Amino acid sequence: MRYVLGIVALLNSLIVASQINVSAEDSTRPNILFVFSDDHAPHAIGAYEGWLASVDPTPNIDALAKQGMLFRNSFCTNSICGPSRAVIQTGKHSHKNGFMNNGNTFDWNQQTFPKLLQEVGYTTAIYGKSHLKGNPQGFNDWQVLPGQGLYYNPDLITADGRVRVEGHCTDIVTDLAVDWLREGRDKEKPFMLMVQHKAPHRNWMPAPRHLDLYADIDLPEPKTLFDKWEDNAPPARFQELEIDRHMHLQFDLFVDLSPAFDGQSIKGRVDKSAWANMKRMSEQQLKVWRDAYGPRDAEFHAANLSGDDLVRWKYQRYEKNYLRCIRGVDESVRTLMSTLEELGLSENTVVIYSSDQGFYVGDHGWYDKRWMYEESLKMPLIVKWPGVTKEDSIDEHLVQNLDYAQTFLEMAGADQPEDMQGMSLVPLLRGQDPEDWRESIYYHYYEYPSVHMVPRHNGIRDERYKLIHFYEFDEWEFYDLEEDPDELQNRYGDPIYASRIEESKKRLEQLRIEYGDESVSGVKPKEWQNKVRGLTP
Ligand code: CA
Repeated sequence: MRYVLGIVALLNSLIVASQINVSAEDSTRPNILFVFSDDHAPHAIGAYEGWLASVDPTPNIDALAKQGMLFRNSFCTNSICGPSRAVIQTGKHSHKNGFMNNGNTFDWNQQTFPKLLQEVGYTTAIYGKSHLKGNPQGFNDWQVLPGQGLYYNPDLITADGRVRVEGHCTDIVTDLAVDWLREGRDKEKPFMLMVQHKAPHRNWMPAPRHLDLYADIDLPEPKTLFDKWEDNAPPARFQELEIDRHMHLQFDLFVDLSPAFDGQSIKGRVDKSAWANMKRMSEQQLKVWRDAYGPRDAEFHAANLSGDDLVRWKYQRYEKNYLRCIRGVDESVRTLMSTLEELGLSENTVVIYSSDQGFYVGDHGWYDKRWMYEESLKMPLIVKWPGVTKEDSIDEHLVQNLDYAQTFLEMAGADQPEDMQGMSLVPLLRGQDPEDWRESIYYHYYEYPSVHMVPRHNGIRDERYKLIHFYEFDEWEFYDLEEDPDELQNRYGDPIYASRIEESKKRLEQLRIEYGDESVSGVKPKEWQNKVRGLTP
């Protein structure tokens, strides 16, 4: 009998001990707040000290960088919205997770990092833009925009169907996140919260309170605003993402081209987005909008601009709206940080700010993304991990969105599945310099022929050199980023770089094989090449 009692006592003490361990573990395992926006170029963040820093675009994101670590060499694997998100969910390249372009549908039944976090005791939520189609899996709570979603008074998809919410989408998404932090989550568990803003995605519709921001100044211009891509391989001249020829005065810039415009008479694609958003506005929202843009439109008509002057005007209108949308996201970061503070969660919550890819802010005369050139290849990545990241620190290692899933898993003390293809950033966040860190990143873009007409390409970038292969056209580019950071001189075929280029080609093939990428197709027939480029043979 004494023996049995002894066993019971021992079992009891083990149970107590394991309960203590679990609760001790939960108080040390960090919460994860992942704030993610759409199309926010690093050079449109003050802390990245690019050419736009002088207009102070992001005071609150800059404050986050001061408190944590900024990754200067942060890159995507495929510079477009849905695919970048699929890479983050899975820790696998597009060809492995199956979501290669925005036309695909994400298979939510596959392994994702939020599901794995749930398995180790995290509670999870996602609000805002998912862009992966289908109902999200791996989340205890979620509300997502359908597709791209609307800026004003958008619909949200919930587990119980669609709801329409009044207000500007950046504020709505912030409010959902704050409500969940305050009341919605299971407070016994550590959390992982994804706050996914639609802004600043095209067509850049800021909240009413931001319509006058930068109204009285001229923003700086990128030095490559009038680039004519003379030294690039031909694909750079056959694209459709120029501010000059492709940015639409109505669709992208809301210029009222008809004095008698009544909101109903616009046809074609213009009707599908810009005015769909404006039709969605309340009378009061529309009035604020027209009061802000009406006099500016009148000035525009009076000036009767053309040529480079018109490009400059379009650039200013676009860039101001882009930065106004970013100001909304920046305020969201402030609200989320103060909410953590107020709830006593600051000390044990990792805060990450990132965006799905970079963007052309007039650089090379463009808007949009897709290319493997620097402006769209780079992603912002700022991480504040109290007690781990050093304040105001900079990391220079080559990192990718491919790494986020494993990073979050390691933060949570969970195993990293063998089939994930990234590298946990935790050692870098601890300030370490791992000997076996990657020396090159692998890139592959697929969506072609399609909107903006950027051909398929894969390539690699190391600390200094970049090799790009537009394989359907069998055209190559090679850049020396140290000598030519703006990528204005394609060195492919330059004998000075011959051995470097051969080395890069070998490395590209090695990485393609290592990542199991069988999706590179061969050269297309000349007839097809001419047809997609609109050329007559
Ligand atoms: Ca995007």
